[in-house]
Amino acid sequence: MTVTGSCLCGRVRYRIDGPLSPVVACHCSQCRKASGHHVAATTVLRDDLVIEGEQCWFASSAGAQRGFCPVCGSNMFWDGGQDYLAVFAGTLDGDPGIRMAAHIFCADKGAYYEITDGLPQAPGLPEDIA
Ligand SMILES: [Zn+2]
Ligand SMILES: [Zn+2]
Repeated sequence: MTVTGSCLCGRVRYRIDGPLSPVVACHCSQCRKASGHHVAATTVLRDDLVIEGEQCWFASSAGAQRGFCPVCGSNMFWDGGQDYLAVFAGTLDGDPGIRMAAHIFCADKGAYYEITDGLPQAPGLPEDIA
């Protein structure tokens, strides 16, 4: 199955030819600053992802970059230098069938909201999600 996605303005588009992991919400301070709330992302193998259109990459920490559209600013990717990338689920087209499965870095979440969906919550990064 081929899954597609794009930024808000459409300049950056991508195609995924491979499996997508369940969606994990990250409440760390970097994801909150970058997204304006929290991030919800699936992960895909690097080799399964083809990105088209000029992207910007911001080195948000040692060894990690965040990809976004230089025109509309949509946050789209997180690349920690592994064999997979995180693709922000809000940029996917249509319904690829994946659903939210867990929350991570809950110890860093914003004070202004509660997590009430009943899904597992980890204070940091659980080993079985990394
Ligand atoms: Zn854009
Ligand atoms: Zn995060």
